[in-house]
Amino acid sequence: MPVHDIKDITIIGAGPTGVFAQFYAGMRSASSQIVDALPELGGQLTALYPEKYIFDVAGFPKVLAKDLVRALGEQAAQFGQPIHLSQRVVGLEEGDGHFVLVTETDRFPTRALVVAAGIGAFSPRRLPQACAEPWYGRGIYDVVTDPEVFRGKRVVIIGGGDSAFDWGVQLLDRATRVTIVHRSDRFRAHAATVQQYQAAVGAGRAELYTFHELFDIKCESGPERFTHIELRDVKAKSTRVVDADVVLPMLGFVSDIGPLGSWGLNLEKDEIVVNSMMETGRPGVYAAGDVTTYPGKLKLIATGFSEAAIAVNQAVHWIYPERKVTPGHSSNMKLFGQSED
Ligand SMILES: Cc1cc2nc3c(=O)[nH]c(=O)nc-3n(C[C@H](O)[C@H](O)[C@H](O)COP(=O)(O)OP(=O)(O)OC[C@H]3O[C@@H](n4cnc5c(N)ncnc54)[C@H](O)[C@@H]3O)c2cc1C
Repeated sequence: MPVHDIKDITIIGAGPTGVFAQFYAGMRSASSQIVDALPELGGQLTALYPEKYIFDVAGFPKVLAKDLVRALGEQAAQFGQPIHLSQRVVGLEEGDGHFVLVTETDRFPTRALVVAAGIGAFSPRRLPQACAEPWYGRGIYDVVTDPEVFRGKRVVIIGGGDSAFDWGVQLLDRATRVTIVHRSDRFRAHAATVQQYQAAVGAGRAELYTFHELFDIKCESGPERFTHIELRDVKAKSTRVVDADVVLPMLGFVSDIGPLGSWGLNLEKDEIVVNSMMETGRPGVYAAGDVTTYPGKLKLIATGFSEAAIAVNQAVHWIYPERKVTPGHSSNMKLFGQSED
């Protein structure tokens, strides 16, 4: 099992909180590393809403979620500390004066830990139909990061929530045909987006099948790609064939707080109870972002940034008691080429 170099601070989670925490560790001259189960930076912003605008991040009148992630990544990258993606944390060991964070494949020694694990390690809910399984990655994609990939394709989206309708609208001008299929006629999506999509259906630019589900996948052009899918009317039990090059299941995510439950942290409904110093009750282990709870907690990007700064400053002081908790002002720091006060 590969063992990485010991770092001052290891951050679980590459969501906005974790990436900002890594920047902050660099600003405090602490070495750091991030470990995340997903293949890309950004946590919920990348996995759930990369193409949505965010309006309540300080300093940005509006910013696309994927652009905010890119900017956070650039800000953290100036200190050249590693980010280890596709690494799901499964355990935490302690001994010889440091921790070792254990993933499915690697070991990450660390002096302190900042848990920024959001809603846990999440993965898209898969289509329950067995016929879909062999097509994952070859026409069925449950994570969309670049809508351009679907230009000129006949796309069927399965689901009735925000992601289904957001992508439905995003793809109208790119795909040759967009079809949304949902098992009921009740949608869990923003009403304005549903109306926008329904207007496209009214104008003959898209299709919407309510009370339908995937029934079968047909490949008439060889085993490499499919050309049609069969839908079943869940009320009438009849079936119909729809042209499709691509199926996007948008069925939400299942998240799992995983091993955190057994680390001796004070948990309340899968959230870590922290005090105003982001301490978790276990010395050397801090938490920040959506994973934390305390009276008045707001699960927002802005809150995560603030908690990341507090957690990292506390962790630095805990590892190196001679270093102050208070970071000073970045606008005066030599590190950024400024003259110290
Ligand atoms: C559709 C939608 C719209 C939103 N809009 C806004 C908005 O407009 N403004 C706003 O402020 N907030 C918004 N939010 C909320 C915002 O996205 C969250 O508050 C934010 O993502 C929390 O960041 P985080 O870094 O704490 O956690 P997350 O973004 O959840 O990131 C946590 C990371 O930890 C990783 N992780 C967890 N467990 C493990 C493990 N065991 N091993 C390895 N990695 C692990 C996960 O893979 C994930 O990448 C929105 C959320 C959604 C779903």
